Order: sequence, then structure tokens, then C-alpha cells
Amino acid sequence: MRRLLRTPLWLALFIALAGWATDFGEPVAHIYWNVLYKNWHHQAPQSIVVVNTADIATLGAAGEAQLIDIARQSNPHRLYIDTKLQFGADKSGDARLRDVLGKLGSNAVFVVRPVVDTAFTKSFIIPDASLVHHHPIVVAAWATNFLSYVEHAPYWVDIDGARYPTVSTDLSGVHSGFQSDYYADFSVDPGTIPTISGRDLLDGKVRPDKLSGKSVMLTSFDARDGRTYYFGHGLVNPVAHDIAGAVALERPVNASLTGLAMLSLVFGLLYLGHNAPRKRIKLAIYATVLGALVILPAALRTVGLVATSDSALLLVLLFAGMRIWQKRTRRIQHTSASGLPNMLALSASTLPIGCDVVVAAIARYDEMLATLPRDLRGECSRQIARRISVGCGATEVYHSDGGHFSWTEEARPLDMQLSHLEGLRALFASPLQVGPHTFDTNIHFGLDRNEGVETATRVNSALASANEALANGRAIELFEAHRLAEAPWELSLHARIDEGLRNGDIWLAFQSQWDVASHRICGAEALIRWNHPTRGPIAPNAFILQAERAGRIDALTYWVLDQAITATLAINAKGERFQMSVNLSGQMVDKPDLVRNFAEITARRGVDPGLITVEITETSSMGNRAAAVFNLSQLRQLGFRLSIDDFGTGEASLAYLADLPSDELKLDRRFIARICDSERERAIVASTIGLAHALGQTVVAEGIEDAPTLALLRDMGCDQAQGFYLGRPQPFAVFEREYDANGIRRFGHV
Ligand code: C2E
Ligand code: CA
Ligand code: CA
Repeated sequence: MRRLLRTPLWLALFIALAGWATDFGEPVAHIYWNVLYKNWHHQAPQSIVVVNTADIATLGAAGEAQLIDIARQSNPHRLYIDTKLQFGADKSGDARLRDVLGKLGSNAVFVVRPVVDTAFTKSFIIPDASLVHHHPIVVAAWATNFLSYVEHAPYWVDIDGARYPTVSTDLSGVHSGFQSDYYADFSVDPGTIPTISGRDLLDGKVRPDKLSGKSVMLTSFDARDGRTYYFGHGLVNPVAHDIAGAVALERPVNASLTGLAMLSLVFGLLYLGHNAPRKRIKLAIYATVLGALVILPAALRTVGLVATSDSALLLVLLFAGMRIWQKRTRRIQHTSASGLPNMLALSASTLPIGCDVVVAAIARYDEMLATLPRDLRGECSRQIARRISVGCGATEVYHSDGGHFSWTEEARPLDMQLSHLEGLRALFASPLQVGPHTFDTNIHFGLDRNEGVETATRVNSALASANEALANGRAIELFEAHRLAEAPWELSLHARIDEGLRNGDIWLAFQSQWDVASHRICGAEALIRWNHPTRGPIAPNAFILQAERAGRIDALTYWVLDQAITATLAINAKGERFQMSVNLSGQMVDKPDLVRNFAEITARRGVDPGLITVEITETSSMGNRAAAVFNLSQLRQLGFRLSIDDFGTGEASLAYLADLPSDELKLDRRFIARICDSERERAIVASTIGLAHALGQTVVAEGIEDAPTLALLRDMGCDQAQGFYLGRPQPFAVFEREYDANGIRRFGHV
């Protein structure tokens, strides 16, 4: 059901049905019939003649009796007294009336019209029994629409326990039909109803044969109660309704189809049209629908069937509106240059079960576009899309500006999918030929296999992976599902770091550094910690990387520096020189405001920069090497000590040493851990110590976990030592207590 409601045609049907059930479309039907009958009329039947009695009203009952007698003498089929006779005013007139009516017997028929009382309800007043005693009575009982336009009437009505036929049934002689009501035919032009002046008839100006054999209706045209309107003509003599009803009753049938009939017919046609395979057929069917809406009710009316198109029209309007809206959004989802659907279109679609999303990033795409004249740019994208669809059989390839193409692949086993994409990559080995231009290019894929995740998310994941593949020069990058779970965490990291700093979840640990020769604590390294309330302790390596990504590393670094300075000042106040090491992220080394901020913070805190050692790790993330070297020499000029952290682990350790103006070298704990067992590692460490000393550097060994390692390092001439064996990283209060107790300590059992 929900799926159905998402398709415009079905949604439109449900709304139209609701409209039908609530008569919502009545105004539409009203307009339709009014316009139709304004333009479609034919002559009224000549067998019904109206005699206007308004102009003899002054003659009283005697005049009326005389008029009826003249009419009687011309042998009418029936004489309808559709006027209020002035019976009861004068005795002789009454007698004459009674006499002439008596002669007519059942050929004189009394017409009773409704009286609208003050409450706007209709009631019927049956004339004085002494007058109508021998005569049939017929009733005008038209039902109207919301604007008082006549629509239909029952074949008979019950009044005070007696049953009376309605006027049209008596005029036509048709007394029953399929339904309880019959419908009038408003194509009868009320203006063409044969009408004779009562005065002319009295004066003998009318040939008697004008009335012979006809149904004659004696009617006064004066304003009456219970006024009703006639489609296409408005306010008319009420007799017109009865004549229109009689004409309709003479047709083979008189019945109303429910609005559902038209609604189902039109829905059926729209359904066929919507699913038609060819555009021509589609258009033909839609044209038929429009024709049916306009012509069908009129055509059906000619055979006596009433069908209203209001609900059907509502259906068509809704469906058309929804389709136009859909087309518009579809247009937004197409790129203009290439004419290919863009990735929004793919993101907005519902993917079938069992497919992978692939995004291809084209290397040097922007360069290619830049060399191409405007009119060839679309061609370039189309050619790439064609190559992709030839290579993998994708029916639809989506394109977004910036050289990304996406499509879906059947979810094969991973190794098959990878080799499939490798095959596609081979297709891009031959250059692209766009007009006179030839391009060598490369294609990189991002693959998302997270079935069941929202399409837009999958497209984005594949896109991110494709970009990663492009940046790293790899052929294919698979989007790892666990990163999806991490995504919201990473996205909100910014706020979480601020929160962590505020409420103390982020704090600084201090690990002692010892002077090997004097066996004394000579300093500490400040190491950041995060005890996340729900995730527990987070390894600094992990969240520093994320902080770098989230652009929050600067704030974090300056916070560390500030906290470290507080500790430095506190320990130095005890009298001994105490050196504090802080770590500087590779990402920050080349930042233009780094030096200014370091200088500003130390100046504000009144600390000698010489007490701060800045540890830098050589990483590939150091973007602008020249700026980094410049910044570091500036820091050193300001008095900060520089230390090269994790020395020996990177590829360019020696080059680094030559480039950077450093004071200290920290031997990585990966070497230190093995010096007791490995001759080789021992040789490396020994020669590094020698090299560092030759360059005037202090050597710090980190990761010392036992006494033999420490002893060995002391023998090799290492200057300072740091490690779990000598002290774990701990909160400042604990560190300070240990410092006070062991400020000078023999390396016990060495
Ligand atoms: P690092 O600069 O090499 O820091 C030394 C790491 O070795 C610390 O890990 C420390 O706890 C650990 N360690 C010290 N002695 C021993 C030992 O005897 N055995 C072993 N197995 N490990 C030892 P931690 O605290 O997990 O820090 C990891 C890394 O996170 C640091 O490596 C540093 O690169 C980074 N980091 C920590 N704090 C900060 C900071 O405030 N700013 C920046 N940018 N990076 C930081
Ligand atoms: Ca460090
Ligand atoms: Ca280190």
C-alpha cells in the first residue's frame, strides 16, 4: 500500500476517490453541465404548450373558467392547471370553474409545486379537495445541486399518505425506471417552449388547433416560491424543468452512472497510457482521456445516461500535476553539459536487492575539461560513460561534475567484483579521443557493498572511497562498513573535544624523563589522555588523528601547552631545573600562526621557552616542508628546544636530521625494546647515539621497560631515559608526589 501511494497515479486515484466520497467535485460538475448546456440546445417538443395566465389574472375565477373552457373546446390531450385558481372569491365564478373542470374530468390535471417556508424547507400544499376532487394531481419535486440548479426528481412522491406522480412522468407517460429518480435533459432550450398568451386565447386570436391533441399547461409567469435554476439558462419558468424531464424520460433509458464509473474508466486509460511502451501510444491514450472527460458525459446524456466527470477530472488534474512535478525534479537531477543523469538521481532512487554501488573517479578530469572547448565537454563525459557502460553493461551511468561517474553492479563475491573492475580499468588504458584532442587517463574506483543502507549514504561512501583511491593512486578502494558506524562520531568530534576539555574527560598525563648520569628526574613528557564517558579511554594516537581530520588539533595543542606550562612552573618552583616535553602534530608544524601562538602563550604564562621541548615526529602528513623548517628554526630562535621524536622509524631520518635545527633526538621504543636480544639493534642504537652526539644532540631513549635495557643504554652513552620501568604516565598530582619523593634516586638494582 505504501509503495502504491508513492506512485503518482495511485496516489491521485486515492485522493480522487476521497473527493468522490465527499462530493468534493460538485463545483466541477456544476461548471461542466452549465457550460455544456449553454452551448448545446435543441428545440422544445411542440406537443407541450404553455398558456400564460398572468395577463388574465384580473378577470378572476370567471375569466379562468372561460379560458379553461376555450382550451377544452380545442381538444387538448391533457390540461394542466399549473396556476393558483382564484377559487373561493366569488360564488358564480366558482360554479363556472367547477362546471368546466367537471367537463374535463380526469383530463384536467392539477400541478402542485413546492412552497419554500421560512426554514427553507420545501412543502407541498394539496389544493382544496372540493375543487380537485375528480382530478389527478401531479407534483413538481425537483432535487437541486448546491446552487439550486435542478438535477433530478423521483418518479413519485408521498404526501400525507397519498402517492402522487411527478409532473414529467405524467407529461411523458413514463412512470418508472431503473432508479428511483430520473434526470432532466437540459439541452431542451426553454426559450423554444411554445407559449400562448392567456389574453390572446380569450380574445380568439389563437387558432383552436394550436392546442388540439397537445398537453396544455396553464401557467402564470409571476414570481413563485420555490425558484430553481436551469443549467445553461439560469432562472426560467419552472415548467421548463418538467418539460426537460419529460423529454429525458422519452429516451430509452434514464439513469445516472455513479462518478465511480467515469473514474474507473479514466483511471484505466491513464494506467494504460502511463505504462504504454511508446510515446505515441501514450499521447494517443492521454488525448483519449481528455476527449472522454469532455465528450463522454454529453454523449451518454443523449442516450439518457448521466455520468459526471468531476472525480475523474480531479484524478486527471492531480496526476498531471504530479507528473509535471516529477519531470521537473528529474530535470534538476540531470547534468546540463553531458545530459547524463547526475548522482542526485542515483541517490534518490531505491536500489534493487543485491547490488553494489560503484563510483569511478577519473584522474586529471578537470585538466581535460580545461583544455576542451565548451561544446566538447559534454562529449567527453558521455564518452567516459559509454566506455563504462560498454565495460560493465550498466544501463544507466550517473555523472556528477568533477569527473565522478557512478552506477550499480550486481553484488558478486568480492574477489570477482574486484577483478571485474580491474577489467574495466583496462578499458581506460587506451586514450580518450574527444574531437581532435587525445587524452591519457586513469580510472579509480570506490566500491560500496553495504546492502540495506540508504542509497544516498551508499553513493557518498563509494564517492569518498573513489576519492581516496584517486588520492593514493590505488585502483580500487573498498568502503569499510565499520567506518559508517564511526562516521557520526567523527562528524561530531569537534563538539565532543570541546566538551571533553570542559568537563575534564580530556586530561594530561606526565611521564618522567631521567638523567642517566645523575639518576635524577630532569623532566617529563606531557601525554594527552581522553577518558570518554561512554567509549572509555581512547588511545591518543587514534583521537589525535581524528582531531587532525576534524580541524581541532590546534586548539588541543595549545591547551596541552598551557597545561604543561602550569606543571613546568610548579615543578621548577621547587628549585631544580625541570624540562617539559610536548608533542607537536605533524599537521601543525607548517601552520603560519604556530610560532606566534607559542610565543604568545609562553610570554603570557611567564615561562622561559628554554624549559619547553617541542617533540616533532617526522610524518608524511607534514605538508609544506619549507614552511615547517622555517617555523621550527623560528621556535628555536625564541628559545624552545626541539626534539626529533621516534627517530629511526621514518624513511628520511637522516635527511631530517640534516634539515632540522634540533637539540634532541628520541630513540624510538621499537629499537630500545630489542637491544638486549639483538646485536643488530644494539649496533644501530649505538651508532645513532654516536651520530647524535657528533651533531651536538642530546639522546633520549624511550620505552625502557626493564633494568638491563637501562643499564645497556647507560653504557652506550645515552643521556636521558624514559619508560614504564622508570615511571608510567600519570596525573600531575601523582607525578608530583613521586617527584618529591624520588627527585633524586639511585637506579636501584643496576
Ligand atoms: P610518543 O610521542 O612516542 O609518546 C610515547 C608513547 O610511548 C606514549 O604513548 C607512552 O605512554 C608510551 N610509552 C612510554 N613508555 C613506555 C614503555 O616503557 N613501554 C611502552 N610500551 N610504551 C611506553 P601514548 O601516551 O599512548 O601516546 C601515543 C602517541 O600519541 C604519542 O607517541 C604521541 O605521538 C601522541 N600524543 C600523545 N599526546 C600528544 C599530544 O599532546 N599532542 C600530540 N600531537 N600528540 C600526542
Ligand atoms: Ca613524544
Ligand atoms: Ca616516541
